Amino acid sequence: MANVKQKPLFRSKEVSTVNSSDGTFSLEKSGKPNRPQEKVNGVKNKANGLGKSLNDSLEGDLRDFLINEAELHTYDDLTKVNPVTPSTVLKCLQARYSAKVFYTHAGCTLVALNPFQPIPHLYSLDVMREYHSAPQPQEFKPHIFIVAEEAYRNVQGQVEPTNQSLVVSGESGAGKTWTSRCLMKYYATVATSSQRCQDTVERIEKRVLDSNPVMEAFGNACTLRNNNSSRFGKYIQLQLNSSQLLVGASVQTYLLEKTRVAFQAPNERNFHIFYQMMKGATEQQRLEWRLPLEQDFVWLPHAEKTLEEDCLQETVEAMISLGIDEGKRAQLFKILAGLLQLGNVDFSPAPEEAQPCDLNGQSKGFLQKAADLLQVSLDELQSCLIVRTLRAGKQNILKPCSQSECGIRRDCLAKVIYAQLFDWLVTFINNSMSADSSMWCNFIGLLDVYGFECFLLNNLEQLCINYANEKLQQHFVAHYLKAQQEEYVSEGLQWSFIRYQDNQGCLDLIEGSPSSIISLLNEECRLNRASDAKKFRVRLEKELSDNANISWDKFSKEPHFTVAHYAGRVSYQIEGMMEKNKDPVPPELICLLQKSQDSLLNSLFADGDRESEGSRGHSKVVTVVSKFKNSLESLMKILHSTTPHYTRCIKPNPDCRPLTFQKEEVIAQLEACGIVETINISAAGFPIRIPNDSFFQRYGLIANNRLAAKKKSPEMGSVVEDVLSVVIKKHSPNSTFSPDDNNNMVHCGRTKVFLT
Ligand code: ADP
Ligand code: MG
Repeated sequence: MANVKQKPLFRSKEVSTVNSSDGTFSLEKSGKPNRPQEKVNGVKNKANGLGKSLNDSLEGDLRDFLINEAELHTYDDLTKVNPVTPSTVLKCLQARYSAKVFYTHAGCTLVALNPFQPIPHLYSLDVMREYHSAPQPQEFKPHIFIVAEEAYRNVQGQVEPTNQSLVVSGESGAGKTWTSRCLMKYYATVATSSQRCQDTVERIEKRVLDSNPVMEAFGNACTLRNNNSSRFGKYIQLQLNSSQLLVGASVQTYLLEKTRVAFQAPNERNFHIFYQMMKGATEQQRLEWRLPLEQDFVWLPHAEKTLEEDCLQETVEAMISLGIDEGKRAQLFKILAGLLQLGNVDFSPAPEEAQPCDLNGQSKGFLQKAADLLQVSLDELQSCLIVRTLRAGKQNILKPCSQSECGIRRDCLAKVIYAQLFDWLVTFINNSMSADSSMWCNFIGLLDVYGFECFLLNNLEQLCINYANEKLQQHFVAHYLKAQQEEYVSEGLQWSFIRYQDNQGCLDLIEGSPSSIISLLNEECRLNRASDAKKFRVRLEKELSDNANISWDKFSKEPHFTVAHYAGRVSYQIEGMMEKNKDPVPPELICLLQKSQDSLLNSLFADGDRESEGSRGHSKVVTVVSKFKNSLESLMKILHSTTPHYTRCIKPNPDCRPLTFQKEEVIAQLEACGIVETINISAAGFPIRIPNDSFFQRYGLIANNRLAAKKKSPEMGSVVEDVLSVVIKKHSPNSTFSPDDNNNMVHCGRTKVFLT
């Protein structure tokens, strides 16, 4: 069994100083006196005899503990803010952000605020080494390197080695990918031996880091939310040998947004790699790729320029380091260039009914170039796009496509090629950087996945993303509760979180059996019939209305359903959802690509395992949600077998402006990423913990005479119990305090007093 080591819920012993004058980072600790640790977490009155009277009596007194707003920025852990409410937590984060402090603990989570500007020295090699060599790194200022180092040390485990997972979440532009890169750099720096100078080993660390620019070039794009937005999820496992040295890595990707190849929302862009090619090509390459400087491409909208487009050389160098040779690179770039040509192909309506569509204006020329670059026959390419082949028994019937169908087939061709190319690249990268299984024994996994999404229009993509976040939230809550429960057990308390409602109901709605959104969606897609959004909505209502997490706006004209996620309610439009789930690819297109003279392109489709439209009649259609559910399940299995560490990235303003903190933005994210939920959970347990000696110092006086004799007792716990019974008697003469009563709102642990 995995050795889940309990993390301290409250960490830093010292209050960090902020060098706010220039925003630089230094490691020195504050000269301020230590605050009593774990003193107060929050005050919550329960209208219940004993707890209420005790809380009433203590609350006024506890106000002394309340935090001075002027000092808010010095609180390294949000659970120390008193009372812990969304508003105080927000104030604390804002104060820290203004003081240019970007990391804050929140119990067992690290909150990272995006500065949107480089902070000098924050991630330098020296800082890495200092965190790595510190006997107690958690005593330094909160930093992503504390999480990194804790995971690194945990790998060795106290009982047995344990794999670790670093889960980085947050909305688009919050800093997940930046954080993952920092973590990879950290391990590539500290998990190497100074004695090792063999080429092979050095190459591995470099390859692991070089996988980033390549995957980002192909998988990232400029969107309205982030100029370098990852359009796929990724879980990378850093493989460590028995000496804790990094010897390799493997990466798993999730749900690449392939539609972006053929469709970019207004003011958004295609994947970086296309712009890099346009901008960075040499004269020679321009000729080979048929990309004259003055040519405009429909699929390359000129949205705001990004730095990433200047990086062709960097991408190519990283490809070289990963072992993608010149020949393969040439093939790869030609295929990509072929896609750009394809995007400029346009169709005009058929001159007569039952006739195929024509190609518009210059389209024939673009199609010719596309055929050349993809190395397929021009005629076949054209006929695949404008004519559908239907099977009737042993005969093929040709049916001309409508103008819009032709466009859909063109886009489909580009999407399926790009998606297969991306998968090929990921497999290549894995082969290049993965160590032989005999070489490594443990791993640290880094998860960088899209955060919870709620747009004006939400469809299958958002359903998958939010489903993944629901799963991760459940995993987080289970871990968090476990950590709390373990503390209670070690303190000798019997208590379980019966009052806490988890998100199982929502997950049952999405993925449960026998009936769930996913099962019904799949069933609908397996029936070989035209999808009807209205009928599907009625079916959902009939089968799922027992689940309180689904609802409908009766007055809405658009067929939709609304899911109450842990992070908020999201309305999903049903129109188009079934089609997206089937994701059909006309078999003629696959056939065409299998015949390509380009060895890379035809190999992408060689095994023919990609489900195509032709197999629709068969029951084994693998839908998009089924595939996603399977990959999510294997990810969760891996996560469950590891010790998790959570980092929640927060985007302080929607415009990516440096050092700008907008409260509404932040609070919405604290809610969506579960920090507020964490606070609620901690309130469901015993949010106030006072170390026994602090408690005695403060309240011992009340029972002074009675306890004078016991003052020097080695058993502080029993003294505290006595103090409590005196306090309780005083405020509620009819109550008695029995330490063993589990219904108490107050409990004496071995080292702390716990209060609700
Ligand atoms: P996400 O992956 O969550 O969508 P990114 O990691 O791509 O977001 O971050 C978006 C941008 O924010 C980055 O391109 C970078 O400019 C900036 N950024 C993120 N984290 C930091 C940081 N710690 N320091 C400086 N800039 C950052
Ligand atoms: Mg990203």
